[in-house]
Amino acid sequence: MKDIKSTDRQYVMNTYARFDLLIESGKGAICRDEKGNEYVDFTSGIGVNCLGWCDDEWADAVSAQAHKLNHTSNLYYTEPCALLAQKLCARTGYAKVFFGNSGAEANEGAIKLARKYSYDKYGDGRSKVVTLVNSFHGRTISTLSATGQDGYHKWFFPFTGGFEHVPAGDLYALSNALEGACALVVEFVQGEGGVVALDANFVAEAYEMCRARDVLFVADEVQTGMGRTGKLLASQHFGILPDITTLAKGLGGGLPIGAVLAGEKVANTLGAGMHGSTFGGNPVVCAGANVVVDRLDDKLLADVARKGEYIRSRLDGCPGVKAVSGLGMMVGILPETKKAADIAKQALAKGLLVLTAKDRVRLLPPLTIDDAALEKGMDILTSILKD
Ligand SMILES: *Cc1c(COP(=O)(O)O)cnc(C)c1O
Repeated sequence: MKDIKSTDRQYVMNTYARFDLLIESGKGAICRDEKGNEYVDFTSGIGVNCLGWCDDEWADAVSAQAHKLNHTSNLYYTEPCALLAQKLCARTGYAKVFFGNSGAEANEGAIKLARKYSYDKYGDGRSKVVTLVNSFHGRTISTLSATGQDGYHKWFFPFTGGFEHVPAGDLYALSNALEGACALVVEFVQGEGGVVALDANFVAEAYEMCRARDVLFVADEVQTGMGRTGKLLASQHFGILPDITTLAKGLGGGLPIGAVLAGEKVANTLGAGMHGSTFGGNPVVCAGANVVVDRLDDKLLADVARKGEYIRSRLDGCPGVKAVSGLGMMVGILPETKKAADIAKQALAKGLLVLTAKDRVRLLPPLTIDDAALEKGMDILTSILKD
């Protein structure tokens, strides 16, 4: 359907370099284009479709909720929102949740929460937010400021002030930067930055440094959260409970949602009228997210870890692979000589969807992918890498 593609190019703002693929339907880890060609999905809509395409239980919960109660505004109570918050807190150890619609919005909420906490306790002069070089925190003006990549700091001046970026692993720079700061924000695995995991020792030291100075430790788990790394939250790999964790991508299983999880210290920092979001906590979206949280039990999480290891075992020693990075089912592959973008194009032609991040091929398969589809996808990918 060249028609749809050209209509899209004419009428949708050209902010995306789309692949030459029109997706018409999907089930599990397989989707189809308009001609009926099938593709194995190693992208999950960039870490969103954690239960794959159109999971039955998820789709039933979403459609039943759409028939029962679609939207109320946040002036009223609804069951799916309250249940989701309760479940998230019970599963993670957090005290309270704020719901928005996206990762960037969740991070904006975390920044506001951190600044308010610090202002209440210490007054002016402690508003700085420290983030890491090579991070990615979103596309709003403030989350672009938070993002530690110069490539994003163009055109849209003036950016929001009060952000400083330090190199991951540099404790001396971090210590200096934390002067006058209210928060440190980190991704445990920098996703858009090339699937780069933080060093465990750096995380432990940074966490302690923040604690000692009452600077809030904020985890941006928009990509790493919701089982992606083999644990519900990636922070669990590091044995810490950050003061604030943000979630989005995988949380809704394919519908827009973002969440700010707040620990005891900051759970009551924001009061009525201080923050909000029209669509936040929408019952239909929360009905889907409730299914996602329920399905991410210990059994599925163990399976994510197992499948992550399988992917690594297939790449280990594979010709054409220079390095493999990431955690669980969040995988970065640095090719020997080929360009990541060319590999993604070749994969598409052979019936496999993969992502790129910087100079790496990035894999974010649905957490529920079955072994047959996973093996088929890895066969295609390794044949291209070797070639
Ligand atoms: C994708 C992503 C975001 C932005 O999420 P949006 O929903 O696109 O606003 C923020 N932080 C991280 C770590 C992400 O991967």
